[in-house]
Order: sequence, then C-alpha cells, then structure tokens
Amino acid sequence: MSRSFPAQDALIGRLDELGTLSQLRRRRIQNLPCSPAMLSDEQPMLGFASNDYLGLANAPALIATAQAAAARWGVGSGASHLVSGHTEAHETMDQTLAEFTGFEAAIGFSTGFLANLAVMPALLGRNDAIFADRLNHASLVDGALLSRAELHRYAHLDLQALEHALAQSRAKTKLIVTDAVFSMDGDIAPLPALLELAERYDCWLLVDDAHGFGVLGPQGRGTLASFGLQSPRIILMGTLGKAAGVGGAFVAASQVLIRWLEQTARPYIFTTAMPPLLAACVTRAVELISHADDRRAHLQALIRSLHAGLAGTRWQLLPSGTAIQPVIIGGNAEAIEVSRQLEACGIYVPAIRPPTVPKGTARLRVSLSAAHTEAELGQLCEALRALSDLADLSDSEPRA
Ligand SMILES: *Cc1c(COP(=O)(O)O)cnc(C)c1O
Repeated sequence: MSRSFPAQDALIGRLDELGTLSQLRRRRIQNLPCSPAMLSDEQPMLGFASNDYLGLANAPALIATAQAAAARWGVGSGASHLVSGHTEAHETMDQTLAEFTGFEAAIGFSTGFLANLAVMPALLGRNDAIFADRLNHASLVDGALLSRAELHRYAHLDLQALEHALAQSRAKTKLIVTDAVFSMDGDIAPLPALLELAERYDCWLLVDDAHGFGVLGPQGRGTLASFGLQSPRIILMGTLGKAAGVGGAFVAASQVLIRWLEQTARPYIFTTAMPPLLAACVTRAVELISHADDRRAHLQALIRSLHAGLAGTRWQLLPSGTAIQPVIIGGNAEAIEVSRQLEACGIYVPAIRPPTVPKGTARLRVSLSAAHTEAELGQLCEALRALSDLADLSDSEPRA
C-alpha cells in the first residue's frame, strides 16, 4: 500500500469514528430491476426500501417507451440545454409536466438535488432571506446555503416560529421553503397556511414535492393539487425518480420564473441535458400516473393494513398517511439490530440513522409501493409482530 499522509490519516480516523457510532453505511449490490422482489448481495429479499411508490420503475409500458425512444434519439443528449442538448423530447416533457401540475410552465433538471441547488441561488442573494423547515431535505439546505441569503430554520411545522421570523425580517427578497411530504417522517406540510404567510409577508413559496408527486392529489397531481392551491408565488419542485419511476426532476411555476431559471440557473445551464430517452419516458410516465387511481387506491389500502397489522405491538408508526411509514426505534444500534433481524427473515427495511434524522430517533423506514401485494405486507407485519414479542432488543445498544 502507498504511504499515507496527515490529511488522509485524518480521514481514516473519522471513518473509524463513524464505525464506532454505528453510522457507517454499506452499499448492497442489487441484481434485479427495482421491485419488491430483490436480489441483494445475492440474497433474495422482500424489499420495503424503494421510492417507486406506484411500481412504474420496471413497468413494461415504460420499458417499451425507453426502447422506442432509444431507437429514435440514441442515448446521450450530447450537450447542455442552451447549447444543443434540448430536444423535442425535452420540450414535450416540460410542457406535459406544466400542464399536469397546473402551472404556466416547467423546466427539467437532471436530478432533484440539482433542481434544489438551482432555484434559491437564482432568486436570492446576500441581502435576502430564506425561511426553512428544520426537517427539509439536505438538498434544500445546501441550495439555501449556496444562495448566500440569510437562512432561518424554524422548528418542524412551527408556523408561529416562522411568522415571528418573517415579521422581524428586513430582507429585500424572502422565500419560504418546505418539503411537501417530509422524506423521513412521511407527514405533510400545512401548505395553505404557508401560502397565507407567503402572501402576508410578500415571499416566494418553494415546495419540494418529491414524495407527493404521482401519489397525492387528484390523478396524482401532487400535494399542492390535493389542497387545491394555486398562486404565482408558488414554485413547485418535483422529482421523477420516485413515483414517476424514471429519474430527473422539474420545477414548475409562472412563465416568468421558469424563463428566469432557464437564463440564470447554473445547475441548468452548466450541465448536460438528461438523455432524451428519459425525457420521453417521463412524458409516458405522466400519462400512466394520471390513469393510476387503482394503484393509488391499492397503496392506501396497504397503508391501512400496515397500521392495523402493527396495532398493539411495541412498534409505533408515526401518523403518516403517505407511502413513507417510519417505525421509530431510538438508538442507532437497536435500529440496526431490528433491521438485521428482519433481514434474517428475508425482509429488507433500511434503518435510518443520524445525521439523516435527528439524534435519538433512529428508525426503520418502511416504504410502501403499489407493487407490494397484501400478502407481502402481511409477511412484514408478521415478522415485526414476532420481533415485538422478543426480549429487549436494546440490549445490543452500547452504553455511554
Ligand atoms: C429524493 C429527494 C430529493 C432529490 O431528488 P433526486 O432526484 O433523487 O436527486 C429532493 N428532495 C426530497 C424531499 C427528496 O426526497
């Protein structure tokens, strides 16, 4: 092995430290397309771990679209949007997403993380302020920091704290930003009240609907649609790698806002346009989503079955009505132990630990999909009920 040097030794020490805190993560190698049936590090598993909420990631209709679009467009786009990478497939995708979400215009991004890095720096600078829910997704935190605007993080869902901060602010341009469905708790932001505050204090409202798009609202049009909200102040970010089953993301808003992003958003301008075949798949996925009431109804039935199945056990679900169903465990080592015990029964539910969630709230994050059957959900409930009756799993927790 080559000789180390002090900066690298420091990394080795920090990795060791993560190991001691049970915070080291391991990538398992998957050998099947995304579906509840997994082959994970060569082990057959029943998975409750994907964001493929409608079961579209591996849908025959989308595979056929991808094949036809590859034949039509080839694979790569070859350039960024403003140079020569913006194909008719991208243009159709943008228009389809605008129409589906009920906004004047939309613009596609390569990933949701990039979209969230794009919006705030394009709209705000040093004399401005951002007001963010403390449990917002990491990409929103980074996007806010990148803008150099003053960042106020309010306690989760605490509208009073938010209003207090807004009332005190003397910033020129202000923006409130929130996850619509919080990615680790599965609860939903009070979007009508947030819009009211945005109007009262003259702010933009940026809503990240990564987990609501395709799942909530009439025809799966998203969380804003489920509340019937519309306003030129609202900027919607939606991801296309979750319920849509493809990959990428979009921002939908007023015509003016979208044109501004197209002209100034660096993560839009200085990156290669997504492969046109994926844009074609997204357009098809939106059509599938809008006709997927049966899949959404099945997903809701699975959520009810999970809550009924765990009633009376030690496993407390958060009051989430979305596909994200966390079981709070507490300690890191205990959460890992429960996940490991499930794995021994052939069921994969990831343990989510700090820093992804606050300290002391390590959890199992059960993700449900319309691709799960009631029988598969029954297997999960049965395994968890059996573990619930076992001796104290927290015995494996290292003592402070
Ligand atoms: C997944 C997710 C993102 C990032 O989207 P990608 O397309 O996966 O990069 C952003 N925000 C939230 C709330 C998410 O859950």
